[in-house]
Parts: sequence; C-alpha cells; structure tokens
Amino acid sequence: MRKLLSRHGLWFAVWLALTAAGGIALARAELSRQREAFETDARIAHRLLSQRVVQHDAVLATLALLQPAASGDPAEQRLPSLYPQILEVKRRDAATPWGDARLEAAEAASRAQRRATLADADFALGRYRLVLAAQPASFALLMDLRAVVPWSEWPMPVETSPVRLTLDHAGQSFVVQPGHAAATGWQFEFRKHLAADSQPFDVVAARTVGWRDLPWRWMLVWALGAAALLAAIRSFERQRAERRRAEDLLRLGQVARLNTLGELAAGMAHELNQPLTALLANTQAAVRMLDENPPETGAARDAMQQAVQQGRRAAEVVGRLRRAVERPDLAAQLQSVVLQDAVRNAFYLLEPESARRQVVPRLVAEPGPIAVRAEPVALEQIIHNLMMNALQALEQAPVAQRELTITLSAEPSTATLTVSDSGPGITPEVLPRIFEPFFTTREHGLGLGLSLCESLAQKMGGQLQARPRSPRGAEFRLTLPLAAP
Ligand code: ADP
Repeated sequence: MRKLLSRHGLWFAVWLALTAAGGIALARAELSRQREAFETDARIAHRLLSQRVVQHDAVLATLALLQPAASGDPAEQRLPSLYPQILEVKRRDAATPWGDARLEAAEAASRAQRRATLADADFALGRYRLVLAAQPASFALLMDLRAVVPWSEWPMPVETSPVRLTLDHAGQSFVVQPGHAAATGWQFEFRKHLAADSQPFDVVAARTVGWRDLPWRWMLVWALGAAALLAAIRSFERQRAERRRAEDLLRLGQVARLNTLGELAAGMAHELNQPLTALLANTQAAVRMLDENPPETGAARDAMQQAVQQGRRAAEVVGRLRRAVERPDLAAQLQSVVLQDAVRNAFYLLEPESARRQVVPRLVAEPGPIAVRAEPVALEQIIHNLMMNALQALEQAPVAQRELTITLSAEPSTATLTVSDSGPGITPEVLPRIFEPFFTTREHGLGLGLSLCESLAQKMGGQLQARPRSPRGAEFRLTLPLAAP
C-alpha cells in the first residue's frame, strides 16, 4: 500500500513540477508581452505629445517673424480657431508692459535664452502659458493641456486602458488617462521628458499587471495537457509491465511444464521397472522349464526370445524417454543470485494473484543482499511454487488473517528462505507425504509442485523442508549454500 502510494505520489510530483514549470514559463511570456505592449504604447504617446508641443514653439516663432501685423484684426487672434489647444494669444507691443509679473519674468528668460519659455502652469485647471520675446512685439499663448493630447491618434483606449498616463511638472500632475491599477502584481513604469525645452513636462506612464491578468486559461490547458500526457505515459508503462509479467509467467509455465514432464517420466520409469523385472523373471522361469524332463525346447525358446525382445524394447523406451526429458544438470549452471532480487521478482509476478486474494506479501530480511549459489530460473520456480501454494492455502483463511511472509537469513555457509503463511496449515497425516510426487489434497492439484521444488533444491546443493507453524499455518524452509564472496 505504501509502495502504491509512493508511486502515485511520484507521478503527482512530476505533474506538479511540470505544471509549475509550464505555468511559470507562460506567466513570464505573458508578462514580457504585456511589458513590450506597454512600452510601445508609452513611447508612441511620448512621441505624439512631443510633436504637439514642438508645434507650439513653431507657432510662436512664426508669429514673431510675421510681425508687425496690421492692427485691427491681427492674424494671431485667428490662431485659436486653427489650433484648438491654443485658448488665447496675447501680444505686448514695445510700449505697453504685460501687467503680469509671471509674463514679465518669462519674457526676460525667453530673451536671454532666445527661445520660448514657460511662464506658468496650472495642471489642476489644465492650463499653462508660453512666452516668446521678440521685436517689436512679444507673444504669449494660453494653452489647454487636454486639447494638446492628439486623441485621434492616441494609441490606447483612454477610458478602458489599464495604463495610467500623466504629464508631470514641478510637483504637479495632469492626468491624461486614469488607467486601472491592480492592487498587487508586477509594476511597469515609463518616464521621459517631452522633446521641447520650452515645455519641460515628463510623460509618466505606469501599469500594474495583477494576478488576474495572468494567462490562467492557458495555464489550465497546460496543466490538463501535462496530466493527459503523464496518464498516457503511465498507462503505456503499465501495459509494458503487464506484458513483461505475462511473458515471465509464460516462461515459468513452460519451465514448469518441462519439469512436470520430467517428473512424469520419473514416475513412468518407476512404473515400467516392475513389469520389466517380472518379464525377466518369466524368462528365467522359461529357462528353468527347459531344464525339465522332457524339455519343451521349441515353445520355451520362442517365449524366451519374445520376452527378451519385449524386455529390451521396454528398457529402450524407458531409456529414450528418460534421456529426452532429463533435466539439464543444474550443478553446471549455478551462479551467484541475490535472494532479495529473486523474492521481489516473484512478488511482482504474483502481484495479480496476491491482489485477487487480498494478500500483501511481506519480505523480512536484514539489510544487505544475501547471495546464494543457485540456478536463477530454478530458484524463481521454487519461490513461485511455494508462494502460489501459500496463496492457495490462504484462500481458506478469513481475509483479515491472511499473512504471507518471506523471511531471509544467512548462516555462516548457507542461507535460508522461509515462506510462511497463516492458512490452515499441514496436518500430521499429510506432513510425511507432502514431497511425494502426485500427492495432493487439492481437487485439481497435480501433486508435483513440491516434489519438483525439492528435487530442484537438492540439485542446487540445498534442501527444502516443511513444518507446521504456530499458532496456525505452514512454513517451508529452503536452504541453499551461500555464494563464495
Ligand atoms: P498441488 O499444489 O498440485 O496439490 P503440491 O506438491 O504443490 O501440489 O502440494 C502438495 C500438497 O501439499 C497440497 O495439495 C497441499 O495439501 C499441501 N500444501 C502445500 N503447500 C501448503 C501450504 N502452504 N499450506 C497447507 N498445505 C500445503
């Protein structure tokens, strides 16, 4: 169960990591896209405003150039109808002073700097005044800030844009567009002087990208996509594992069948030996008949020859069968096998069988691998058979009491693998016969499993013992020599 949980946990962790990585990448891409759009808009706004304010310098310069104008309907008074941002044009002829200290000071500064200068600005009202000193008359413009903004070319929707844009000057701020700022998030800022010395205003744009502005929908799509991908990989993995398990079971089954054949042959040899012996005895009897008086020579010879021939044929058949099914010499194939690995493999192969009976096999071993000298397939077969027997026995126990434990221990020169279960156990009548070929108490049993296991164990230089386990159940102990270090 814990293994199952940890496997689920691993997949979940991978999904979480993928989702987080993808989410962060998507959020970063979106933020950088937003920042780029913000900066582009702010730069366009700055350029447009700069173009406008430079016009004001040009208007003043033109007025100065064109004078002296005719009195009466001076041309400058028609300017506001051409330029809506110009609210009023004032003109001071050489003789008359402005009568306004700000304009006087600005004119002096304009004269000194030989360019238009700012007289004053009232951003709360959205007004400012520009003065250009010239001869014989100087000019002053009263400007409407709101009309300075070229709305028809404006790059952002003024009411709905999340960008706040202001014109700042000497602690005053004129709001061009209010923007919609999120409470928390990522801040973008843009600040740049207008490109006209006479109107030294700053274009200040700001935008806060809030959590809500992140591309949640795409992030969700990504998370679902990652989950689907992982699920596909997982099911592919599972299918592959199932296939491998099926192949392994098939291989074990084939080995089992071969071995069963071997047992059968051994049984048959045993069966055939008796008639053979009888046959030989008959022949000897025929010989004795010949010694009688009068000897029945002809008939006795015929019978004897036939008997000898049959006997030979029978012996030959047995011999051939035996040679054909004789198991390869295991002793030649012994190698170092780690018991823990063999047990884990058997657990894995029998996972469906165990699950079907609601049994969770347990492996109890001291830390460190225990290596024995064994033939890997034979060892696998023994563990598989013993576990399968235990699982079958456990069917007769209540679910809550079902226990299957494999214990490993190492002595100085041998290792012991004990398969114990909490099933009904072995009765004293059954115990002495349990390793006999064809002995079974099960309805569809062959009774060859344990005898095969025992002979396999012996061929590997080990032994297999059975005994009842207290308070209930059975215990099978397989002892094998340790592999040379
Ligand atoms: P089969 O499983 O075909 O009967 P086996 O040689 O594997 O042949 O087993 C022989 C008999 O030994 C079984 O029929 C059963 O009575 C007994 N046996 C084997 N393992 C156990 C066990 N774990 N608990 C109780 N009885 C067992």
